[in-house]
Amino acid sequence: MLTSIAGQSVIVTGGSKGIGKGIAKVFAAKGAKVVVAARGLADAEATAKEIRHAGGAAIAHAADVSNWESVQGLVATAVETFGTVDILCANAGVFPQKKIIELSPEDWDQVLDTNLKSTFLCVKACIPVFEKAGKGRVVVTSSITGPITGYPGWSHYGASKAGQLGFLRTAAMELARYNTTINAVMPGNIITEGLQDLGQSYLDGMAKAIPLKRLGRVEDIGNAALFLASQEASYITGQTIVVDGGQILPESAEAIDSI
Ligand code: NAP
Repeated sequence: MLTSIAGQSVIVTGGSKGIGKGIAKVFAAKGAKVVVAARGLADAEATAKEIRHAGGAAIAHAADVSNWESVQGLVATAVETFGTVDILCANAGVFPQKKIIELSPEDWDQVLDTNLKSTFLCVKACIPVFEKAGKGRVVVTSSITGPITGYPGWSHYGASKAGQLGFLRTAAMELARYNTTINAVMPGNIITEGLQDLGQSYLDGMAKAIPLKRLGRVEDIGNAALFLASQEASYITGQTIVVDGGQILPESAEAIDSI
């Protein structure tokens, strides 16, 4: 049983759908006050409404995490509404699939800006709040793709997800003076709106490649994020947790078949 995070103020970027929505609901169910942030206000509001109907506290805020002014506005709204930001879940991300031969410099920038620059911007915007409070927590949603594995069509995505971990290791040192930790969850294949867009044959093929024989649920990531945000994780910083049903373990297709 983790020490309660009830009453704490949490920003979840990309909180309107998929993993972010899962994180928002897991934190809200434990009594946290959640700012659900995404570009699309209608989806963010729908998630916030779902949380409120379940008895939780949540507001929606439209923000583009790749834009500095927009991120500053998000943090300002969280502070105005809930008094502070105790926990930042830097989760928003995109994963369009395109092989290097077809990838344009603009495609590259769009993914790197949304997934990696955003992590820097969100952390930077929260630093004054963490400094004032004398504490803070950051949980980054990275991936196994990039830091550990590769997949054709995701060179830009993999670079962004590996880049988040490079950022995190130095950020952990710089944030320590504000009594703030930063860690990352590295999901495998988690059933989300974004993943479903890749098609049923992708989902079926992936499930077969996972030792636990199922794709992950958004709550699997929400629970790992909750631990990293908890009092019990206060001495963990600059670290990662892979949550993938064992997906990175098999050395070959035969290894999976022999389970
Ligand atoms: P998803 O279902 O497509 O949801 C993405 C969320 O991010 C939405 O709320 C989206 O809302 C928001 N978003 C996208 N661009 C944004 C921007 N520029 N500013 C603000 N919000 C933005 O994706 P997901 O599968 O849950 O993935 C979430 C995170 O988990 C990503 O960082 C992804 O890399 C990571 N991840 C996912 C998996 C997986 O299997 N699903 C595996 C490993 C890692 P709007 O479009 O309205 O902005």
